[in-house]
Parts: sequence; structure tokens; C-alpha cells
Amino acid sequence: MMRLEGSCHCGAVRFHLDSPHPYPFMRCYCSICRKTAGAGGYAINLSGDYRTLRIKGKKDIGVYRARLLDEDTGSRTRSSGRRHFCKCCGSPLWQWDQNWHELVHPHASAIDTSLPVPPEQTHIMLGSKANWVDVRAKRGDKKFDEYPQESIAEWHERLGLEKRRMKK
Ligand SMILES: [Zn+2]
Repeated sequence: MMRLEGSCHCGAVRFHLDSPHPYPFMRCYCSICRKTAGAGGYAINLSGDYRTLRIKGKKDIGVYRARLLDEDTGSRTRSSGRRHFCKCCGSPLWQWDQNWHELVHPHASAIDTSLPVPPEQTHIMLGSKANWVDVRAKRGDKKFDEYPQESIAEWHERLGLEKRRMKK
């Protein structure tokens, strides 16, 4: 397990959580990540244990639920993903979804702890990327137009990088 300390830019919100999967390897190019957390074209999402999340400055946190368009029916629904951000400075903080309630997905940009450098990247939602975004994929990187089958946890397991709790 790795303890991740995070904060917004102005310092109104501080948080920490424990993560067995702290490598910042997953770049999401979807329009929601790009607009809310990734001006350079993508955002990097980490994964951690929601039960360990501790927050200072809760009153300054806003929650955004994107409206999603169903292109077949034309209907709009609210995303179950709840994107948390600082209401004072606008920094994106983390995403939490009740469908995967045991997990929390902080943005790598909000983490102050020095993160390990990933040996390879996964590029997801490339079908939604902006045309000007130059995907800097290296040899061995994986690319997906939508979501991959491989979870953040499975990526760490495949590469032998999972940070398990030390046995006493
Ligand atoms: Zn702030």
C-alpha cells in the first residue's frame, strides 16, 4: 500500500488515501476528462481504497455529474461518476462512482506525493480525443478507442507492480 497525499492548488482542500495501485499510467482522452481535468488533451486517473479517503476542507468541494447523450435514442442521463473539485480554485480532485463504491479515482495532478514512473502507458477513449491532440504513445503502450478490459488493478498485477500491504 502506498499513502497518497493530495490537495487542490489553493490549499482549501487536502486529502489522503491508501492505494495498492499508484502508477499514473492511464491517460483518458474523453471529452469530460479533457474539459474538466486535462487541458493538454487527457487526464491521468489513479485508483485507491475509498474507505481510506480522509478529507480536510469538505465545504469547499463541489461535485459535477456530467450529462451523457445516448446517440441512439437522443436521451440524456446523468453520469453515475461524481467528479469532485475545489470550488475555490477549480482544481480537479477525484472521481467516485457508486457502482464501484469501494474505489476512488484521484487525478494524478492533485497528488503531492512523489508517484512512481510507469514503465508503459495505456491510452483510453481515443475515439473521443480532440483532433489536435498528438498521442505520444511509446512502443509497448496500449491504445483503446473506448475503455479497456484491463482494469487499473490488473495492469499493476500484469507488470508485477502491485503495492501489497507488508506482512508482519
Ligand atoms: Zn482550491
